[in-house]
Amino acid sequence: MNPRVEKIRQLLSELESEVAARPRGDLGFSALELPDIIGEVVDDLQPILTAHDAAFYWFLFRHSIAKDGNPQIRVSHSTLRRAVVKSSYTDAEENMISFGKVQDTLRALEEIGAIQKLGEPNRQGTLYRVLIPDEIEACRRFRAQRMAEETELFPLSDNGAHKRRMQVFERDGYRCRRCDKQLTRFTATMDYMKSPEEGGDESAENLVTTCAECNTRGPNKLS
Ligand SMILES: [Zn+2]
Repeated sequence: MNPRVEKIRQLLSELESEVAARPRGDLGFSALELPDIIGEVVDDLQPILTAHDAAFYWFLFRHSIAKDGNPQIRVSHSTLRRAVVKSSYTDAEENMISFGKVQDTLRALEEIGAIQKLGEPNRQGTLYRVLIPDEIEACRRFRAQRMAEETELFPLSDNGAHKRRMQVFERDGYRCRRCDKQLTRFTATMDYMKSPEEGGDESAENLVTTCAECNTRGPNKLS
């Protein structure tokens, strides 16, 4: 093919993927959110993936959200064949998984909603968006199920404190009950309605969602 035509095709393909990516309005993730996101991936995504899918997801995550907060990554099949995991079928020096395995794994991650293809491949690879468990329907379903069973699975871990915390946030719609500020699972904190000194207990009825400012200022400090 004429190299100029080839070049134009490539540029068009790049433009197309940029346009496909833009309206999504991705703001990216902050470093402060990273520990929580990693916790969610281990709790709510990894248990519904195969070992291969999980290795690929972590690789894509590491080179997108974990690198600079941007959930988009352009990656080629040949990179994924070499850089993620070895094949268990050969101990050859150049030990790569097959092209088909890469395709199958990417398809599985797309089907579960863990990644989204944002455009057609160009010479540098294909543009994907890496999603976090909050954005993945299958993870939200698994989380609900996991939280219902949590006290049985981890009876001694934290006495159901995490479950109660999430219940309080969900009940209050992630809004500060003192100043009505809209919060997220990452910025919400909890406070007592009635402090323990006044006889308040740890039940969900005695706990409210607060923003960090109202929590620090409030009389019944609780992180
Ligand atoms: Zn507030």
